[in-house]
Amino acid sequence: MITGTNGQIPEDLADIGFDMVNSFKLLGFDVSWNLDNLTTNTGKISLKLISIANYWRRFNLSLPGRISIAKTFMYAQIGYVCSILSPTQEQINNYRSIIFSYVNCRAPVAQDRIASPCEVGGLGLFDICDYITSLQASWVKRAYVRTHDNWSYDINKATAGNPLVLHPTVINQETNPVLHTIAISWKKFISEFYKQNKNISKAFLLNNPIIHRSGDDRGILTENLFAQNPPIPKTELAKLKIDQIWCNNRMKPFHTVANITSVPLSLNNYMRLGTALTNYHNRLSREQPAINQSISIDHYLVRFKKGSKPIRNILQKPKTDKQQKKLPNYFRTFFRITGLDMPETEQLKHFSMSWQMTCLPNRLKDFTFQLIYNKLAVRNRLSHMVVDNPIDRACTFCTIAKQLPAPEETFIHLFWDCTTTSVLLNKLISNFIPELNALGDNELKSFVLTGLAQTRYPIITQVTRIIFLYLIWDMHQKKGYGTGKPSK
Ligand SMILES: [Zn+2]
Repeated sequence: MITGTNGQIPEDLADIGFDMVNSFKLLGFDVSWNLDNLTTNTGKISLKLISIANYWRRFNLSLPGRISIAKTFMYAQIGYVCSILSPTQEQINNYRSIIFSYVNCRAPVAQDRIASPCEVGGLGLFDICDYITSLQASWVKRAYVRTHDNWSYDINKATAGNPLVLHPTVINQETNPVLHTIAISWKKFISEFYKQNKNISKAFLLNNPIIHRSGDDRGILTENLFAQNPPIPKTELAKLKIDQIWCNNRMKPFHTVANITSVPLSLNNYMRLGTALTNYHNRLSREQPAINQSISIDHYLVRFKKGSKPIRNILQKPKTDKQQKKLPNYFRTFFRITGLDMPETEQLKHFSMSWQMTCLPNRLKDFTFQLIYNKLAVRNRLSHMVVDNPIDRACTFCTIAKQLPAPEETFIHLFWDCTTTSVLLNKLISNFIPELNALGDNELKSFVLTGLAQTRYPIITQVTRIIFLYLIWDMHQKKGYGTGKPSK
């Protein structure tokens, strides 16, 4: 089979005796002679995802368990094919809906929080689009670090030896659909990278996707634009960076540029660059944050050895920043019903990550998640949801201890105010964590319910705190009151 031709088999090939076919399967990919079935490869992923979700649903896993299944088995299905082929938007929506509905089935959170990091109130999954873009863009890093394959040679050739200036316009989509896909993803990533932390100040100029030629011409700075006599060596042009010619919001003098850089720019091209950079400065630089921690893309990529996570982090950052602003909203109810003060953002981040403590077993992680996001069915919450058969709102423990009339079972009563809870807590502290005796009443309440305190306690104290809360909840459930049915 010959791909990318008119389908006619030349006579010299037809005569050599091999079977000629119109399509074949290679490493799980279906490939046809005119490449018209590439999207069927990405279409099959949905079926595999449904089958994985249906299989694992039988085990009724906890939330952290479901997240692990999604990351280990489901994203891997997407990653294998989509690291070189881009699915259609409809297919991406399908993947998203299958994975997210599997993970987010019990005690669900808002859709925009599923694919956010835990420290900003999310479930810690990642967005499918960003995941695919980062996988594809990471091929460029490989081509930059080492050229030892045909494909990385092709990228280097198209970019005059600097793959970091890759742009879809330098790859022919007809003859090289996979590299073109990679170039599109690289463009998405590098545009976002240059917009963050003023990284644009150390950016490459050639094919830079966010620098336009002028106010009227939104074309990028391509190699053809720099045609001059004598011509500029392509490899030198591909290495030219903005900070070599631009400083303190203006172009460096013409002679300085000529001395510093190894690019022999003509006056005409120097003026052309001046127009483009001034236009960029006027158009976008005011939108950049004031902090200047800029880093060049070549330095960023050598910070990590392999993987696509650092690339995905750059793509996710705008969404993460947006989500962080909403963080206090997620916990407003928790701090209102516990009567505690809302902590600062950094402490709030720790609080929202407390359910992801690595040493906790999944059951405790699941419980902590429900605890901090107000999803535990204490009886005063439950009574709002059951209309036909009103639930007794009295505290489970106080009813058993015959402290009548038993107070209403609210969250704060069950985990703090209840006499049974406080007796058990006092015993726990005096026997196992006496250092907590030094805390005032409000500080102790804050530590027990949130894990936040002025003193930094060892991890074992934090785990003991969570186990204590879990045992209170477990005991409450086992007494038969958690379901709303009073036991005999
Ligand atoms: Zn009670």
